[in-house]
Amino acid sequence: MTRVAVYLPDGSPGPGRLGEAELDVVDAAAAELVLPEATVSDERGGRLLDDDLMFDPAAGGGPLAAEAADRQARAFGVVNAAFHTQRALRYAADLLGHPVPHLIVRIGMHDQPRRWRGGHYRLPEPAGDEPVRVHPHGEVHLGGGAAFVHSAAGRYFHAPAHNAAIVCHEVGHHLTRHTADFRLNRLRPPTDQISGKTGIDEGTADVIAAIMLGHPDIYGWHRAHIPESDQRRRKLDPRWTMAAFRGGRDHDQHADGTVWASACWSARQRVITATWPPSRFDAMLLRGLEQFDRDNRPSASSLNGTAERTHADALRPRRHFSRLLAAMTATDPELAPVVLAAMAEHRIRVGASNSTLRDAALDRGAR
Ligand SMILES: [Zn+2]
Repeated sequence: MTRVAVYLPDGSPGPGRLGEAELDVVDAAAAELVLPEATVSDERGGRLLDDDLMFDPAAGGGPLAAEAADRQARAFGVVNAAFHTQRALRYAADLLGHPVPHLIVRIGMHDQPRRWRGGHYRLPEPAGDEPVRVHPHGEVHLGGGAAFVHSAAGRYFHAPAHNAAIVCHEVGHHLTRHTADFRLNRLRPPTDQISGKTGIDEGTADVIAAIMLGHPDIYGWHRAHIPESDQRRRKLDPRWTMAAFRGGRDHDQHADGTVWASACWSARQRVITATWPPSRFDAMLLRGLEQFDRDNRPSASSLNGTAERTHADALRPRRHFSRLLAAMTATDPELAPVVLAAMAEHRIRVGASNSTLRDAALDRGAR
């Protein structure tokens, strides 16, 4: 174990509390850390790391900072992203009883022709726009940052690797890929995967981020300018119901995901109120993701048509919140009544499609 300086979640609307933690490192290179469960690198290269992994965040570094400060901030980003990746993957492995495949995390991606402020999770696609060959197990790509956030503490260059919520959300997609596999990627060739996400995938990744941060305003740091009542803030406790669900491919899947994410958050809060540990809900979610895959496998006869059509038909049920809810409750019958009651308040119940749930919620005039 190596002592590292990282941001620790503290529930504040900032990056967290700067503190010390332990990181299990297998190997370190100039701009890369190899951990047992992930490899994290800064793709812009240079000599960033040394034996001592205690770096200063340097207010995110960035284009207006001196070169030494920017290098310091990038080094901190590698360590901070590595820490939160390891923490999330170890927590999930504990609950699942096994690890998921090794994850590649690349920082400083897509910074040409314009800087990139976000992150995404990618699988290999034949016509993908990735500048690197993506590992078939999946990769997290983080931009180098493109904007400043301003607060009472001053100006901070928002580097995604400094933001635990962004790191944990993308790690969440790696967890769903290797459990629920919402897009049935394991039935596709390793070089012809689907990277696009559905609402249920986005919502689950947001819940995983909230679990790791321990609070619902996961993006409160860099989205502080967006009202909490706006779905784009993606705060989990405005209690979005199915009436806010839109559906359809052209709609922002993150917004639809807030309905599932906030329902899960309510359920987790209810579990805590009923004096169970929160990890009991977290285990139900993770094991439910695995159970969901077992429960929703396409039948042999449905695989007889053309490949593309078959895939589309088999994928449809894998969008439904109710099917993941059913799988979750099956893994922990004792907890099920509490979780089902909380979900019902978001107008989610077992045995109905997303659009049926939405229509029912709208008829009764809920939000
Ligand atoms: Zn996402």
